[in-house]
Amino acid sequence: MSEIEAILEANRHYAEEHGTTDVPLRPARRLAILTCMDARIQLFPVLGLRLGDAHVIRNAGGRASDDAIRSLVVSTNLLDTREILVIQHTDCGMNRFDNAAIRHHLLAHLGVDPGESTDFLTFADLHESVREDVAKIRASPLLPKDITVNGLIFDVATGRLHPVGETDTDADLAHVHGDDAAR
Ligand SMILES: [Zn+2]
Repeated sequence: MSEIEAILEANRHYAEEHGTTDVPLRPARRLAILTCMDARIQLFPVLGLRLGDAHVIRNAGGRASDDAIRSLVVSTNLLDTREILVIQHTDCGMNRFDNAAIRHHLLAHLGVDPGESTDFLTFADLHESVREDVAKIRASPLLPKDITVNGLIFDVATGRLHPVGETDTDADLAHVHGDDAAR
């Protein structure tokens, strides 16, 4: 069975269970969450959320890219969300590579040069990356001034969420777990 056949088969079962629901368009918990595309983050169970509770914007790294902010502008201004969570995570691919490595990979495998100035939004320091993106969202003139923006780190090894304060560092997180999960 091909992947698409398996997906459609699984969906038939889902639709039977799903029935017809009438969940409102606007998120019930008035939350918008920006997080990474990582396959190990099962976001709704992680946060105790249910269908209809929150908007979810995902990209490589969970970074506040222009397109992520585009979605947050719609989410807050048109669909009434009032709290934004930025959730990045340990062992992120975007923390393993840098722009030069991605550029070299594309050159070697596709023979295409994305250019020296292309920013894939990789990062060297996880806590700094979260703080940077929270600050970028807070500074956006297209987002309401009264929204709350918080940054968190999800530990893919333990399933725990760690709020990111002004002074927390990757070393603190590594110390908590006695390993290099925050590398
Ligand atoms: Zn990631």
